[in-house]
Amino acid sequence: MSHPRTIHAVRGAIRSGEQSAVDVCEHALGRIAAHDPALHAFNTVTSERALDRARAIDRDKARWKDAPLSGVPVAIKDVLCTRGVRTTASSRILDTFVPPFDATSVRRLEEAGAVIVGKTNCDEFAMGSSTENSAFGPTRNPWATDRIPGGSSGGSAVAVAAGLSTFALGSDTGGSIRQPAALCGIVGLKPTYGRVSRYGLLAFGSSLDHVGPLTHTVADAALVLSVIAGVDPADATSSPEPVAAYGAALTGDVRGARIGVPARLVDEGVDPEISKAFRAALEVLGARGASIVDIALPNAGAAIPVYYLVATAEASSNLARYDGVRYGFRAKVEPQDLLTMYTRTRAEGFGPEVKRRIMLGTYVLRAGYYDAYYLKAQQVRTLIRRDYEQAFERVDAVAMPTTPTPAFKIGERVEDPLQMYLGDVFTVSANLAGLPAISIPCGFTAGGLPIGLQLTGPMFDEASILRVADAHERDTDWWKRTPREFEDLRI
Ligand code: GLN
Repeated sequence: MSHPRTIHAVRGAIRSGEQSAVDVCEHALGRIAAHDPALHAFNTVTSERALDRARAIDRDKARWKDAPLSGVPVAIKDVLCTRGVRTTASSRILDTFVPPFDATSVRRLEEAGAVIVGKTNCDEFAMGSSTENSAFGPTRNPWATDRIPGGSSGGSAVAVAAGLSTFALGSDTGGSIRQPAALCGIVGLKPTYGRVSRYGLLAFGSSLDHVGPLTHTVADAALVLSVIAGVDPADATSSPEPVAAYGAALTGDVRGARIGVPARLVDEGVDPEISKAFRAALEVLGARGASIVDIALPNAGAAIPVYYLVATAEASSNLARYDGVRYGFRAKVEPQDLLTMYTRTRAEGFGPEVKRRIMLGTYVLRAGYYDAYYLKAQQVRTLIRRDYEQAFERVDAVAMPTTPTPAFKIGERVEDPLQMYLGDVFTVSANLAGLPAISIPCGFTAGGLPIGLQLTGPMFDEASILRVADAHERDTDWWKRTPREFEDLRI
């Protein structure tokens, strides 16, 4: 028997009465029970809570009939607070933390009828690109289980790719939605900075953090964005800019659209199979009437060092709050002494990558180095943003591969953090500039590993990149593929 795979298909099945919300929920929970022991996408599965909610939706049909996500299963990255449900950031320091409130994005999903099936594994505090930095062990890529799924939202990407949940929420500070989406063959959208509230997101780099959806299709991403976007009094950086009708933007018409390609950047150090898939994706858009334009992003080469200075500086400040007093884990110290309690709690509670970043961030913020590192990084960040502003005078979207290589083997890069950081070359600049960016499936390697195409747009113009992404999706069927074990899913 085949089962609906996309949000639109699940909604159709529930609306027509073919399936109840409980049927859909039981199916998701069944798949989690069957496949999650091998994949480890979830830190926590909320079976009872999910079934209770699905029953309530079935019971009160009149109330939920028109809700945009009525009865649709969703998995939430474990850095977004869920009231009454453990929220760990995949860190030992929060492994018993149960938030007394919901993140705004989570609350909006539930108000729209979505059913939370669990909290997904990630790199500790979202620091990483492989989900190997979780205190609870790695998540595996369903396309090749000896490989990483990407990160840091690896659990969310795998939950969707393997059909354990219809869609997921992730967070993206330097690529953590787009990169795992690319490596798992699904769609991942990082909205404009301020488009989606960050209230209830455990902070990593506050000027870089974003919340967004991971889905099978562009239409599904547009739908979820329309639910979670919008100003929030609880997040002063959320924008009052009106929320566009994202679904209505998906016309398939990209005639005359100008797609910029920073040729120098994308020709360097990219895996040949990825280059080939990238060129093919541009041809698909060209055939639909878009024109491909050469652009330069002269400062993009500095994006990695700038990102790793700004992100670690902000992280060192944000993570100071985990001191064993207010949240989660506290080291046992005898005789009782406050300073020893702080230091032991942090020494035992944080993993090696988080400690590395706190030390690096503290270093770059030190009085004597501030001007040389942090201030300089902020100046170059402005140059990177200006590069994009100039490009958007000539083009409607910028296209790049999402990643320079396909999913690598588990363990392959753990000893070499620099190598891991360099993999973020195409994703971090959208965070530094605050621009919306989406990754969509655009091919597979000969070995069967997914490849992603990234489209970046002007501030608050999610509609344009969604339109271009959807046009590409209409003429390709990469997004329809599922890993072999998961073929019983219907589109
Ligand atoms: N890979 C990047 C990092 O390690 C981005 C992580 C993220 O977006 N949360 O910081």
